[in-house]
Amino acid sequence: MDQSPQKAATPTARAYDVAVVGGGASGLAAALFTARYGLDTVVFDRGQSAIRRSYAIENYLGLLGVTPEQFLRLARSHVAYEGAEVVDDLVTRVTEAGGGFRVETQDGPGVTADRVVAASAYNADYLSEVADGELHDEGDHPVDCDEATGRTAVDGLYVAGWLSGQPHQVLIAAGHGGRVGKELVSDYRSRRGHWDGVDSYWDWSVEADSYGDETWHEHVDEWFESTLPEDHEFDEERIERVREAVKAERLGFECSPAERDARLADARELLERELGVGDDGG
Ligand SMILES: Cc1cc2nc3c(=O)[nH]c(=O)nc-3n(C[C@H](O)[C@H](O)[C@H](O)COP(=O)(O)OP(=O)(O)OC[C@H]3O[C@@H](n4cnc5c(N)ncnc54)[C@H](O)[C@@H]3O)c2cc1C
Repeated sequence: MDQSPQKAATPTARAYDVAVVGGGASGLAAALFTARYGLDTVVFDRGQSAIRRSYAIENYLGLLGVTPEQFLRLARSHVAYEGAEVVDDLVTRVTEAGGGFRVETQDGPGVTADRVVAASAYNADYLSEVADGELHDEGDHPVDCDEATGRTAVDGLYVAGWLSGQPHQVLIAAGHGGRVGKELVSDYRSRRGHWDGVDSYWDWSVEADSYGDETWHEHVDEWFESTLPEDHEFDEERIERVREAVKAERLGFECSPAERDARLADARELLERELGVGDDGG
C-alpha cells in the first residue's frame, strides 16, 4: 500500500462524478460511500475542521482518546484507499453548469462535477449563486435542505454534517455524511433505471459463498418482485436488466479469502501508520 497520501495540491482530473466541499467527518464519510460505489470523487478541504478544537475525541464509538489529528488522518487515508482524492484547496464558487456544477477553487484550475456535497460546517458563501441565491435558510443552518437526507431543491446538490443542521457531535456528522453519500448513490441509480425500493444502495462485505445458492436467488427474487410498483409499465427487458444488476452487485459484496486477507492487511497497515496502533489480533 502507498504511504499516507493525506492531501494532494491539485485534482488529477477536470471532471468528477462527485465533488465534496469540506474534509471533516461528514464530507469524508460522504466521499467514502460515493467512492466505494465507484463514483469518481474529489474532496476539497482547506482550513480547520471544528473537531480540531477538541483535545481528544472521547465520544466516538470505538475511538476513545483518538486525537482529532489522528482521526482526520485516518479518515483521509481511508477515503483515499477507496479511491477518492482529497485536495488541499478552498472552494470559492459553485455554479450550475451543463446539468451539473462547476466548482472553482482558490489555487487550482477547478473541476466540473455531476453532483456536489456541501460539507463545510458553517461556511456556504460559495453556494451564493446556486439556485439564484435562494438556498439560504433563515433557520439555524445556512443552507436549506432536507435534514435527514441532505437533498436540496437543486438536483444534484446535497448538504452534510453541521451545515445541514445536524447535532454537534463528530460521530453524528460522520453518520450523516454516510447517509448523504448513500442517498446520492440511490439518486444516481434511479437515474439509471432503478425504481424506488431497488434504487437503495447497500455497502456490505460478506465472506465468499455466503450468497448465490438457490435459496438466496429465491429470496432475492421474492424481494425484487415486491419492489415492483403495482401499476408499473416497465418492459421485461428493463426488469431483467435491473434484476441481474442487483444480483451481480450483491454477489460483488462477497470477498474471496485471498482478497479479504489482502484488504485486512492493508487496513492494519493503515491503522498502524495513522494511529500508531499495532495488530493484536483482537
Ligand atoms: C470547541 C469544540 C469542541 C468540540 N468537541 C467535540 C467533541 O469532543 N466530540 C464531538 O463529537 N464533537 C465535538 N465537536 C463538534 C465536532 O467538531 C463537529 O460535530 C464536527 O466537526 C462536524 O463535522 P463536519 O464535517 O460537519 O464539519 P467540520 O469537521 O468542521 O469540517 C468542515 C471542513 O470543511 C472545510 N471547509 C470549509 N469551507 C470550505 C471551502 N470553501 N472549501 C474547502 N474546505 C472548506 C473546513 O476547513 C473543515 O475542514 C466540537 C466542536 C467544537 C467547536
